[in-house]
Amino acid sequence: MSAGLRRIVYPGTFDPITNGHLDVISRALQLFDEVVVAIAADTTKKPLFTLEQRQALAEKAMADWNGKVRVTIFRGLLVDFVQSQDARAILRGLRAVSDFEFEFQMALMNRKLSDKIETIFLMPRDTYTYLSSTIIKEIGRLGGDISSFVPPVVEEAMRKQFQGEKR
Ligand code: ADP
Repeated sequence: MSAGLRRIVYPGTFDPITNGHLDVISRALQLFDEVVVAIAADTTKKPLFTLEQRQALAEKAMADWNGKVRVTIFRGLLVDFVQSQDARAILRGLRAVSDFEFEFQMALMNRKLSDKIETIFLMPRDTYTYLSSTIIKEIGRLGGDISSFVPPVVEEAMRKQFQGEKR
């Protein structure tokens, strides 16, 4: 990748990617040349989709942003990964005050680990502030309509996943 490109890393679980994540990414693309969506392999959460499924869903959901967004899986410390990508910024989304405490702690800890990397917070459109992957999985599992919360590829994948669970 050429030098001087402004690149930001957006880490998370993305289980699965939602319209809230996509909203934050589209805002970041107004400020940066490239967003690296980084799916964390080392997580204590028990995900619904495998790492590869989450990567494929994110890639399909962002096909229109080809060349501006890259989806990768990362292991180990986030700050090391950010440096390996030639980036200096971490992107996180802030939905409500409830996100703040955890995000603040993470941002300061990451700064302690590497003073060269800044965390940037973006807020989604107000209609997405109550969206989380967790709540969408709950609604999907119970057969609710999630079409306004996730891209069509994700809706389809969730339907298949939950049909499989019922069998
Ligand atoms: P993590 O397990 O790291 O919280 P997530 O995939 O749940 O991973 O979220 C990744 C980032 O995206 C976090 O900063 C989270 O606050 C943010 N995020 C999740 N859902 C939304 C949303 N609806 N609007 C804005 N930001 C969001």
